[in-house]
Amino acid sequence: MPLYLYNTLGRKIEPFKPVHEDKVGFYGCGPTVYNYAHIGNLRAYVTHDVLIRTLRRFGYKVCHVMNVTDVGHLTGDDDSGDDKMLKSAEERGKSVLEVAAFYTKAFFNDTERLRIQKPDIICKATEHIDDMIALIKRIEDAGYTYNAGGNLYFDVSKYPSYGELSGHLLSEQNKTHSRAEPDGNKRNQSDFVLWFTKSKFENQALTWDSPWGRGYPGWHIECSAMSMKYLGEQFDIHAGGIDHIQIHHTNETAQSEAATGKHPWVKYWIHNEFLVLDKEKMSKSTGSFITLQDLAGMGFDPLDYRYFLLGGHYRHQIKFSVDSLKSAQNARKSLLSALRSIAAKTDAAEIAPARATSGKAAEHSDSFDAALKDDLNTPRALSSLWALVKDSEMPPRDTLAAAFDMDNVLGLDLVAGVYQKDSGADGIDEAEIDALIAERAAAKTAKNFTRADEIRNSLKERGVILEDRQNGTNWRYS
Ligand code: AMP
Ligand code: ZN
Repeated sequence: MPLYLYNTLGRKIEPFKPVHEDKVGFYGCGPTVYNYAHIGNLRAYVTHDVLIRTLRRFGYKVCHVMNVTDVGHLTGDDDSGDDKMLKSAEERGKSVLEVAAFYTKAFFNDTERLRIQKPDIICKATEHIDDMIALIKRIEDAGYTYNAGGNLYFDVSKYPSYGELSGHLLSEQNKTHSRAEPDGNKRNQSDFVLWFTKSKFENQALTWDSPWGRGYPGWHIECSAMSMKYLGEQFDIHAGGIDHIQIHHTNETAQSEAATGKHPWVKYWIHNEFLVLDKEKMSKSTGSFITLQDLAGMGFDPLDYRYFLLGGHYRHQIKFSVDSLKSAQNARKSLLSALRSIAAKTDAAEIAPARATSGKAAEHSDSFDAALKDDLNTPRALSSLWALVKDSEMPPRDTLAAAFDMDNVLGLDLVAGVYQKDSGADGIDEAEIDALIAERAAAKTAKNFTRADEIRNSLKERGVILEDRQNGTNWRYS
């Protein structure tokens, strides 16, 4: 049975067939590095990670590309609102590049603690401006652009399949764009900026020369330029959260296909549903913002959160609550203690992961694989792991080998957990402490003393004492 995935393009479950035999090009929209990732964002990256690990399990060679957005992303995805990077830099009294470097580090620290495998290529928008300019030139030469108010716009009316990915007609799309802040330069409200020359932000920090004047790129162009640079003009999988379907991914598709004339640009679009808090979506703007560090402060291991996410299907909303995270924590603890008891029945120092090809272990592994092939059904895959662990007829060595092999996809670090080895990923590191100290200083400046105290207390619980001095805050281990 092949791997089946739900493709947003066409809105149906399809067998996965890559463009080039066993090689898979995978592009997942990466973070905008103006703040910490919240646990909703991290759900998107755990989803990508499980999919990539699944593809590798089934023999595909995956090239995973992730962008880091350090320029051009406004608070409204449709060119409305503030510049996220600039606003954050002003609030923190830092330069845009300092803010970007800080939160990029914090992001990869989080993903490492969640055992998300590092992408093969991590590309920063500010390091690919020439690629973006070259792509915009192609779009312009193909006749899809117009100049207005100093900016270069993409004219969506010239691209007939504009609503194909979202399933919305252009007239419906127009209604949802920028109701609050209509852009008088746009012919259709769905048109979008490829290049800003007359910035709406007078103090724009980063600008570059271009054929359209000195300025900076719109947000969407970076993903088209960087994905095609590393994966070719047509590639297999593009992933992100469902919020990106209607604007960001629709615009990426329009401009990419306008430039190359090739359709479809991306064969499979994979979108994860949201992590929500009491029916509200988790977002930075509503203040409902929980980080992985907050969970650590409450006594949760990052892998408790990973286990929690695996318990839901990626296309279903997951409601976050501390109680349900506690259940996941207990389940993960029980899993580790069951596996430790099994390990105690063998005399081996450590059992290596191995996919069984015969006997009962193979049956459990087959049911695990079948769950993954069914549009990445991780709740069922977890049940298959539990069925294996609870199967008392299995020789202990076979159970461990098969469980560790399943863990190559689940990413729960079972080998380290069972043999109580330090995997080196969940300890608090110095960069993380520095990041928290900076966040606490910013919270104090903003008179958010609750948050400042939370940080001090959560570090204390983890054995780190903060000492405020005249010239800043020092820390020591307790
Ligand atoms: P952003 O940095 O806002 O572009 O978001 C990074 C990724 O997280 C994108 O793929 C978003 O679609 C995704 N995302 C944002 N909020 C949530 C959420 N609450 N639950 C799941 N995914 C989310
Ligand atoms: Zn993107």
